[in-house]
Amino acid sequence: MTSPRDFARRLWRSRRFRILFSAVAAGLFCGVTMIGIPIEDLLIGTRTVLRRQPADQDIVVVKLDDNTLRDLDVDDVTRTDDGHLVDSLVVLGAKRIFFDRTYHFSQTPGEDRDFARTLAKYPGKVFLGARAAPDDDYEEISLFPSKAFTDRAGVVSLMGFNHPFKLSVSFPFRSKGPDGYVPSMSAKLADMETLPGGIFRPDYSIDASSIPQFDYVDALRRKIPADAVRGKDVIVAPTAITFSDFHEMPMQGYLPGALFQVIAAQTLKTGVPVKLGWTPALLLVTAIVGLGVTRRRVLTPWSIAGLVAIVGAAPVILDFYRVELELVPAMVVAGVAIFRSRSLEKVEKATSVNQASGLPSLQALRTSSAKVPGNLVALKIRNYGAILGNFAESVEAELAEEVARRIRISDAGAVIYHEGDVFLWTSALRDPVDTLDHLEGLHRIVQNGIRIEGREIDLSFNCGVDKDDQRLLATRIANVLQAAERAVRDDEIVHVHDTERDEAQFEISLLSALDRSIDNGEVWVAYQPKVDLKTNRIKGAEALVRWTHPERGFIPPDHFIRIAEEYHRIERLTQFVLNEAAKAAASIIAQGHDFAISVNISAQLLRNAGLPGMILGVLEAHRLPPERMILEITETDKFDRSEKTFQMMQELVGSGLQLSIDDFGTGNATIDYLRYMPAREVKIDKSFIQHMDTNPEDLSLVQSIIEMAHSINRRVVAEGVETEHVMGMLRDLQCDMIQGYYISKPVKLEEFVTLLPQPRMSEYG
Ligand code: C2E
Ligand code: CA
Ligand code: CA
Repeated sequence: MTSPRDFARRLWRSRRFRILFSAVAAGLFCGVTMIGIPIEDLLIGTRTVLRRQPADQDIVVVKLDDNTLRDLDVDDVTRTDDGHLVDSLVVLGAKRIFFDRTYHFSQTPGEDRDFARTLAKYPGKVFLGARAAPDDDYEEISLFPSKAFTDRAGVVSLMGFNHPFKLSVSFPFRSKGPDGYVPSMSAKLADMETLPGGIFRPDYSIDASSIPQFDYVDALRRKIPADAVRGKDVIVAPTAITFSDFHEMPMQGYLPGALFQVIAAQTLKTGVPVKLGWTPALLLVTAIVGLGVTRRRVLTPWSIAGLVAIVGAAPVILDFYRVELELVPAMVVAGVAIFRSRSLEKVEKATSVNQASGLPSLQALRTSSAKVPGNLVALKIRNYGAILGNFAESVEAELAEEVARRIRISDAGAVIYHEGDVFLWTSALRDPVDTLDHLEGLHRIVQNGIRIEGREIDLSFNCGVDKDDQRLLATRIANVLQAAERAVRDDEIVHVHDTERDEAQFEISLLSALDRSIDNGEVWVAYQPKVDLKTNRIKGAEALVRWTHPERGFIPPDHFIRIAEEYHRIERLTQFVLNEAAKAAASIIAQGHDFAISVNISAQLLRNAGLPGMILGVLEAHRLPPERMILEITETDKFDRSEKTFQMMQELVGSGLQLSIDDFGTGNATIDYLRYMPAREVKIDKSFIQHMDTNPEDLSLVQSIIEMAHSINRRVVAEGVETEHVMGMLRDLQCDMIQGYYISKPVKLEEFVTLLPQPRMSEYG
């Protein structure tokens, strides 16, 4: 089970995940802060061009323009004029009349009275504007028409909201006034019944120039076509330059505010726009990018084009249904992800391709998880450096290409990897003999020289071959490079890697590491308790050597001890274990335990005349009495039953040490041998103990060993006791001591001392 934290940590370590994360974070930032609005406005504006449509002609604008002012020879019309205009429009059949002005101040009392009187004639027909003063809080109406007018006319809000950089204008449905909400002019024109809060974006695809417009003065004089305003709503708008009511309409230019109102009203008539915001597109793109980023190389130019097409086309269609989708946050996600995965790909490519030659690098092969069937070949060019040195320019790519071409002449399917002076490939030739033929052929071809930049050059190379396709690729690469090295050294064209011989090579390297490892603490000693079956107490321990190699990990003792014995390097190791064991035993005994320590001694060492001196020296150093140490000796083929060996054992026993016959039952030890050995103890090998509860033959053998050993007064230890059941059987058989996983595995000294009973002073204390 992996904890969520581990999972998160692993996720975070993945470059691809981090790309996705940063892309989404950037998108979210953009969405939440709305900094993408200007780009959104530009996109929406651009799309309006695709849908250009005429205005529906239901709303007419009457312009109080420069032409009118000139004609009437005034700076502004009077309220009396406005009253006459209303009269004219009513006569012409206008449905409603909206003034795109506020009239919050009084002109002259007479003129105001005229206008109020006119308004009173047409209840419900005329609307006056209201808005916030330019310096006021833009949320709330502060400029309201005079009371004299509002008693007789309706009020509509003229407020609009400029987007950043004036790239668009949105409108509210209503605005807050001194006595509650006031509908916006567009909402009123569209006869909306319920007015939501918030703002909406008019559909600027409506062509402002198609909105019917007439001059104020012509309307006033009723010189406009008879049906121009019949049944229509009219906006009276101050469009003369001096009124400065001009704004930038997306893609349509600098236009009077009234045209915005017409377009906004027409937008609302076709339905209130639905705002989906920025999250849907962001989620969609995140999902797509998430898939693309986690799998390799999905963000190809084609899939990017697809993404852009989907994300770009959806709003074009949605625009027709007045559904607003904000794209910029989603585009930011896609953009960041694409940009960052591109650079990631570059990085990945850089390490997987040899920059000099363009061939895949060895690193690429090492990291590829593919199993490589067949032969792996390494070609090492001996004079590589010299060749490159002969040219002023780098000719590495050309040289590599030439070599690769020649390799492929007879091994067409080869995938070639390159690193420095080595070319490595997996041969498509199944038969190793074919591969050797191929390499020899290649050698002949190349011997005739190859041409680089018009120059004839001599190329000398040697090859290594690895046939063992059951091994891990990393091992195979190491092996084949080693084989090529060997070919160079032995001056062979081809050297085939030989697992067994190179195993020996490995052992030698292990051995040389061993001495160093003893010095720097990688070698240590574990202790496994020996329990007395009569008292059920731990009476001793076997010292077992351990080697934790920093790179190779735990190396089994059987393995390196065999090597140390074979290369006659066991003495140093034994001395180390003896020393550790004696030190441990002395301290345990000092705490009051009745305790003896067992150490394994290779039979080989019994021929070493210095052994007793070495052991006694160690005991001395730790003031451990010799009776407290048991030497376990295995009867193997290395154990020679010579007089010399016998004398050595006698000498050890004579100095007070105890001997134990290890692994009894596995060799060809007999009762005679037992009698001949000056050993106090016999250890029955674990192979007989482990299954004695199920295997009757093992049981009877164990039984007879115990009887036999007891008959000549030897103590019997059973090793490999793994269950309570076996322990019980051994107790019934009068076995003296047991050792095994049931009691404890071999453990570090600190742990071992915790297994001991509370200190109790003994006669040895
Ligand atoms: P050994 O002398 O027969 O040691 C007993 C082995 O049995 C140990 O393996 C121990 O871990 C294992 N063992 C103990 N109880 C059980 C059990 O209940 N079930 C099973 N399945 N195994 C059990 P280890 O430590 O791997 O040692 C292997 C061999 O390496 C030892 O066999 C011994 O011959 C040799 N060795 C270990 N340390 C030294 C040393 O310092 N010097 C020499 N010369 N040989 C050593
Ligand atoms: Ca042993
Ligand atoms: Ca054993």
